[in-house]
Amino acid sequence: MFIVEQTTMIQLEGIEKELLKKLEQKDYSLGQLSLMSEKELAEDLEIEEELAALIIQKAQEQLGIHPYTAAEFLEIERRRGRITTGSEEFDSMLNGGIWTGEITELVGSFSSGKTQLCFQLCINVQLPKDLGGLEGKAFFIDTERTFSPQRIEEIASFRIKNTKKVLDNILVAPTSNTDIMLAYINQLEKIIPEENIKLVIIDSLAAHFRAEFIGKNRLVERQQKIMNLAEKLVEIAVDHDVAIVVTNQIIAAIDQFLYGSGEEPALGFAWAHRPQQRIFLRKSRGSARIARLFDSSRFPDREILFYVTEQGISDTSPASLEFY
Ligand code: ATP
Ligand code: MG
Repeated sequence: MFIVEQTTMIQLEGIEKELLKKLEQKDYSLGQLSLMSEKELAEDLEIEEELAALIIQKAQEQLGIHPYTAAEFLEIERRRGRITTGSEEFDSMLNGGIWTGEITELVGSFSSGKTQLCFQLCINVQLPKDLGGLEGKAFFIDTERTFSPQRIEEIASFRIKNTKKVLDNILVAPTSNTDIMLAYINQLEKIIPEENIKLVIIDSLAAHFRAEFIGKNRLVERQQKIMNLAEKLVEIAVDHDVAIVVTNQIIAAIDQFLYGSGEEPALGFAWAHRPQQRIFLRKSRGSARIARLFDSSRFPDREILFYVTEQGISDTSPASLEFY
């Protein structure tokens, strides 16, 4: 016997029919049941607290709510995938590339290479695992309308023969406001497994929020929306083991000393602590760019040099590229 909650069912073997009927009538979701206190559920269903505790426990088990040992956690982390950026230096800063199961944020001013890196990742995620890919597809949420299939084709053409296939494996969602962006994000949980998506890009996360929520009196509403979205993104990254890469704009710093320069990422504190990896990109000479990792919970702060060339993202010497 079970209670249906969308596609999830609560398995309640060993619990009497009468009680199951009561539970069905109350129309509880697994999530609601898992958050209730024994007392609350016992009163509502007019049952013993012991039985209520059993129901809550079953709901929690089915939702995977239980503590892990640190060793189990390590095992989960070891299984997570990484996508090469195309630059060995960049990859080494992140211990192997852009990780699945977490959010990586690319922060930088115009032309710092955020979008170019996103394009490169859309290609690289499709590569075989031994070449730094995950044999998966990319989902690109384009809030700035700068998505360029021609540019992706150009980058891909230097290493991949079938560039048509590369483009077929990138799903693009152009958005013109926050509501449309959120609607696409809500679709992700269905699309990710159906399409074998391994990389989700939002370029940029800041654009719609900054354009729509103007003025101090809308700040609270904006921060609330950003917090909800951030929570959702973390959940998607973890539950579906996908890499989520978001770009963010730079604004003049409110606190000059926090980021070591006169600039800081947009979207404020509601967003600041959500990405597991925050990377500042800035222009250097010519095609050279500097990437600085900061405040990572796993990796030391570090700065590296990489290049944005006609061929995409690379280290100093992108000479020895091979076809596959
Ligand atoms: P914004 O905040 O404006 O979106 P961004 O950080 O996304 O900026 P990118 O689009 O990633 O900026 O970088 C643009 C830069 O990439 C250009 O200034 C140029 O240096 C480089 N670039 C773009 N296309 C090519 C190309 N076909 N060949 C070589 N370099 C290119
Ligand atoms: Mg851009």
